[in-house]
Amino acid sequence: MVGGCVRDILLGRRPKDWDVTTSASPGIVQSLFENTVPTGERHGTVTVIMDGNQAEVTTFRSESAYTDHRRPDSVTFVSDLKEDLRRRDFTINAMAMKPDGTIIDYFGGRADLNARTIRCVGDARERFAEDALRMLRALRFGAELGFEIEDGTYHALKDCAALSAFLSPERIRDELCRILLSDRPETISTAIALGLLMSFASPAEVELADLPRLPCKLETRLCCLCISLLRNGQIKDTAHFLSALRFDGKTVSLVGKAAALLLSDLPNTKSAIKRALSGMGLAPVSLAVEVSRRPEIRILLEEVIASGDCFSLDRLAVNGDDLLALGYRGRELGNALKFLLEHVIESPEDNERNILLNLLKHNPKIP
Ligand code: ATP
Ligand code: MG
Repeated sequence: MVGGCVRDILLGRRPKDWDVTTSASPGIVQSLFENTVPTGERHGTVTVIMDGNQAEVTTFRSESAYTDHRRPDSVTFVSDLKEDLRRRDFTINAMAMKPDGTIIDYFGGRADLNARTIRCVGDARERFAEDALRMLRALRFGAELGFEIEDGTYHALKDCAALSAFLSPERIRDELCRILLSDRPETISTAIALGLLMSFASPAEVELADLPRLPCKLETRLCCLCISLLRNGQIKDTAHFLSALRFDGKTVSLVGKAAALLLSDLPNTKSAIKRALSGMGLAPVSLAVEVSRRPEIRILLEEVIASGDCFSLDRLAVNGDDLLALGYRGRELGNALKFLLEHVIESPEDNERNILLNLLKHNPKIP
C-alpha cells in the first residue's frame, strides 16, 4: 500500500481510498486478477475490484519534466520503489506499507507525521513548479489533518503562488471545497492571501473568524466566504466568482441569492421575512439566516414557517381562476394577485377567500 492510505492508517484515520504500488507492469496486474478496469493505462494504473472493494494499483513510475505546471510530459515505469516514492508530493504521503505491516519510509514521513508537519519531498520550489496543485494540497492537508506547513515548504509556496494560474478551475474548486469542509476552514484565507486563487479573487487578508463556527455544509461555508470577499472588495459578484470556479448552477444561484440578502439588510420582522420568502423561496433565506448567526432572526423564520402564514401565491386563498371570474385579465390579474399577497403578508388573518374577494371589490384601482 502507498500514499494517503498508509498515512491515514498510521494516524488511525479511515483511508478514503486504497492505493497499491507494484513493480508488476499494468498488463501483469490485469492478468493476475479476475476483475480489473484499466483506469489510467498511460500512467500505469489499473483498478482491481475484489469482494466489493477496490484498489488503484499503479506500477512503480517516475515522471519526466512538467512543462505545463500541471502534469508530467511523460511517465516512465521503473523497478525501484524509492523512485516511485520520490515523485510523490509530501513526505507524509510518500510512505509505503508491505503486506506484513512494515513501513518503507525513505523521506522522513513518519517523523513528519509525529511532528504534524507538511513538508515537500525534495526541493519544494521544484515540486510546486512541476505541479502547482501541490500548493493547494499542502494547505488542504494542513487544514484536514491539523498539521503545520514546514518553513521551507511555506516559503516556496509563497514564491510559487503565481503558478496557480496554470491550474484548471475544477481542480482549484475541489481543493477549495475540501478546505472549507475541514476542521480548519479559515485556512482558505491563507490560500487567498498568498494568491493561490488569484484568477478568481484578488489576494489580500480576509477575516474569516465566523467560518469554523458554522455547520460543516458546503453552501453555508461557501456563502460565508463569498460575503467576506465581497465586503473586502476581493470579488465583485458572488455568482461570477462561483461560476468561474465551475460550481454547478444550483449552488451558484442559491449562494448568490443568500449572499445578496446578507449584504442588504437581513429581514428582521415577520413581514420582511415573508416578503423575502415570497421573492426568493425558502432555501436562500434559510441559508442567509444560518450564515448570519443571528438567533433572533432564526426564531422569527421558524415561527413564520410553523405558522403556515401565506408568503407565496400558491398559499393564497384565491387563485387566478377566481380573478378571471371577476373579469381580471393579463397584467391586471397578475397585479391583483400581487396586491393580495402583499396584503396577507402584512395581515395573515385575512387569507380567506371571501375577505380577499371583498378586498378587491373595494380596491378597484390596483396599480
Ligand atoms: P485523500 O485521498 O485523503 O485526498 P491522498 O494522499 O490519498 O489523500 P490522493 O489524491 O488520493 O491523495 O493521492 C494518492 C497519493 O498519490 C498521494 O498520497 C500522493 O502520494 C500521490 N499524489 C497525489 N496527487 C499528487 C500530486 N499532485 N503530486 C504528487 N503526488 C501526488
Ligand atoms: Mg487517496
